[in-house]
Amino acid sequence: MASDYILGIDLGTTNSLVGVVDSGFPILLADGEGSRMTPSAVHYGPDGEVVVGSAAVRQRAVDVQHTVTSVKRLMGRRAGESAWQPPYDLAGLGKTAVQVSADILKHLKAVAERALEAPVTRAVITVPAFFNDAQRNATKLAGEQAGLTVERILAEPTAAALAYGLDKLEEHRRIAVYDLGGGTFDVSVLEMRDGVFQVLSTAGDTQLGGDDIDRTLAAWIWDNCGLDPARAYDDLQSLQRMRLIAAAEEAKKHLSSVSSTEVLLPFFLEQQSVQVTVTRSDLEGLTQPLMERTRKHCLRALADARCEVSDLHDVILVGGSTRMPLVRATVRAIFQREPDVSQNPDEAIGMGAVIQAGILAGSLRQVVLLDVTPLSLGIETFGGLMNVIIPRNSTIPCKAGEMFTNAVANQSEMLIRVLQGERELAKDNWELGRVAVPFPAGPKGSARVGVQFAIDANGILQVLARDTATQADTVLEIQNSAVDVDDSRVEQMIAESVDFAFEDMNERIWTEARLKSEELTTAVDEALIQCEGLLEPAETVKIRECNAEVRRLLGVEPHDARALKAANQALDEATQTLAVLLVERAMEAALERKLGL
Ligand code: ADP
Ligand code: MG
Repeated sequence: MASDYILGIDLGTTNSLVGVVDSGFPILLADGEGSRMTPSAVHYGPDGEVVVGSAAVRQRAVDVQHTVTSVKRLMGRRAGESAWQPPYDLAGLGKTAVQVSADILKHLKAVAERALEAPVTRAVITVPAFFNDAQRNATKLAGEQAGLTVERILAEPTAAALAYGLDKLEEHRRIAVYDLGGGTFDVSVLEMRDGVFQVLSTAGDTQLGGDDIDRTLAAWIWDNCGLDPARAYDDLQSLQRMRLIAAAEEAKKHLSSVSSTEVLLPFFLEQQSVQVTVTRSDLEGLTQPLMERTRKHCLRALADARCEVSDLHDVILVGGSTRMPLVRATVRAIFQREPDVSQNPDEAIGMGAVIQAGILAGSLRQVVLLDVTPLSLGIETFGGLMNVIIPRNSTIPCKAGEMFTNAVANQSEMLIRVLQGERELAKDNWELGRVAVPFPAGPKGSARVGVQFAIDANGILQVLARDTATQADTVLEIQNSAVDVDDSRVEQMIAESVDFAFEDMNERIWTEARLKSEELTTAVDEALIQCEGLLEPAETVKIRECNAEVRRLLGVEPHDARALKAANQALDEATQTLAVLLVERAMEAALERKLGL
């Protein structure tokens, strides 16, 4: 039986990825060798055996003609671009681009089924934004040939934006996606409309990428190693060129984090080895012309979208080659801002495909649900206590509310202090804002003010206070404070809430008891006057004693919360008869009013 999983697949020119939302989390799946990135290479053996991935890349070294790479370039190219000449003869192999793509997808499906230990039949597959209908259909067909129902074809920049969490952007916000992979360059401008990204423009080159850098650097290494100055790079055997290219890619990747590296190829020409030092600035000199080409495409995409650099909310980096410092510097210069590098650039598209698949499968109801409130939100109540309305770790968006009343008579306004934190006392938490809610003055407990907290998908907290009598609303909006607290402060707050839990609890019991005491003692004083002469003298003495004890405890330092609670209880019990008398009197009075006496 097929499972409910829907796979997210990045079918890339150089590398492909597959993943799934499992238990609410988007994950990329690793193959038998532990790698989450599968080279998009297929080797067709003499007996019809099909090998995909790194094993096919290893075969390419000895059997170029039967190893298909970068087949995506044959699936579709941009209008006006010249055709790419592959180093293999696809027709000679008796294959079409769709069939090769299907073989890669079959492999990815198997990787997923092995990792999930369940059969899977549905998938979301990404394609370049410039792919036309026919090219999208060809991709879909490849999926079907691999035994997958393609639930959606998703544009790569859109997938990347999902992975970067930008689906939470406000309407009409624009972003640019700069994607420099192994063989291709794409730049797109997207705009958020009705909660989904629209591709406003896309530009690029299907023959511009990290591979070009590798080839240029391979030739440079040859020219600078001094092994056989008479022989040009192009005159080397193809196997030798491939060794140089592989070493060049290695050096290039290394130079993204160090400033100089050594290339060593033993026994390159019989007994002689290639040995040369490459610095980052050597590499950058060779890469600069490619950067100029990407710049032109970026300007073109901006112009096509009728968009200025300053209109962009964000610029995100996608593709393994954007790990190069020079590429980042180029993007910074073109878009005049720091690019967003918060995601793994060569996994962003795959991750986005997984998230989209999760949404379709219902395993991710909304991506924003992954966001939670780091700290509790609440308001200060009478006596300086923290009253939690939205507990910490609530998923957003969310809404919660409570009803409050006036604690003293003739109050005509309630001050609402919005607090964030885990401590029992209001003063130990952070104040996010305050708002005064007016209501008609009346006796104690007569006002009814509903307070509602709503956190939207952007983490903006809105506090709505409504006087139920007048239906008048007071609104307070607090920007981003709900989710924007830095981690260390959140950790500190939580640690303190544990450290002070005992003390806090004691303070809370004390405050509650104190409020109760104040209420009781005044009520008892008044009742004793009203019911004078109706009680046994001994009983009156007892009540007076209990009342005095409560008053005494209120003034004792340090606060003894337990004793005060016990004294309240004793006073409550001593006044049982008094309470009955009061009720009787109240009923008599009401009856008299009713009978018009
Ligand atoms: P594609 O989108 O074409 O499938 P990827 O996004 O996987 O490709 O990017 C592959 C390219 O990224 C290769 O050219 C590879 O050499 C390059 N690359 C990967 N890691 C680095 C790095 N650390 N520094 C520079 N280039 C890198
Ligand atoms: Mg890619």
